[in-house]
Amino acid sequence: MSENLVPADIIKQPSPNWNDRPVPGDQGRPLVDTVILHYTGMQTGTEALERLCSVGSGVSAHYLIEENGDIFELVAPEKRAWHAGVSSWQGRENINDTSIGIEIVNPGHEFGYRDFPDQQIDRLIELLGFLKKRFNVPVARFLGHSDVAPARKQDPGERFPWQHLADHDFGLWANLNTNSATVITKKGMINPDVALLNKSLAMIGYAVSAGETFSQETFDALSAFQRHWRPGKVDGQLDQGTLAALDNIASKMDRHA
Ligand SMILES: [Zn+2]
Repeated sequence: MSENLVPADIIKQPSPNWNDRPVPGDQGRPLVDTVILHYTGMQTGTEALERLCSVGSGVSAHYLIEENGDIFELVAPEKRAWHAGVSSWQGRENINDTSIGIEIVNPGHEFGYRDFPDQQIDRLIELLGFLKKRFNVPVARFLGHSDVAPARKQDPGERFPWQHLADHDFGLWANLNTNSATVITKKGMINPDVALLNKSLAMIGYAVSAGETFSQETFDALSAFQRHWRPGKVDGQLDQGTLAALDNIASKMDRHA
């Protein structure tokens, strides 16, 4: 019952940076069916809040969660916040149109990337429970910013507890039948293994062209995949363990499509 409720003590801190979502149903679009998770990537949460709420910054998010668990609502979830930028997933672009953006305070790779505190993640799970019910978000559509913009973004990064979230049915998790780091193929190579890799990445949702060439695009998407589903090894190379994770997620994504 309590999972239906808006989490208690949400602090309203309105941002001017939003507009209306496209009309649902137009081009087969739902109102909201995706949640994009970010880290703030700034020295402090206060600094991030200021930027996300200032006229002219051109950026915002629906929510921001401080390391102590405080939740701020910046943009009403029915409205379109400006968090994902140029983005693509499963053939759909402009992910801002149909997603909720949540900024999770962490200095990120640039300013001292660190673990996300338990109280912060507990509050995130509470918020996700509300949003999942409110908008009917499918389990497979809890994604990272790096998933929808792999060439530009690394957040929320390999320290983010994706497996813990998946245990609560927010996002999928990969069960590996091998952890082998034996490399199969890597950037610059051209062979049939790469064609299968590009196919799997595209099937999961990444914007990757078909073909036998291991391009920069392949490298970026594979790195994003590893950040999410093989966080122990983020190097953009296809090894046995990453292949096992890819096959596992591709089959689950298919089932949840
Ligand atoms: Zn982001």
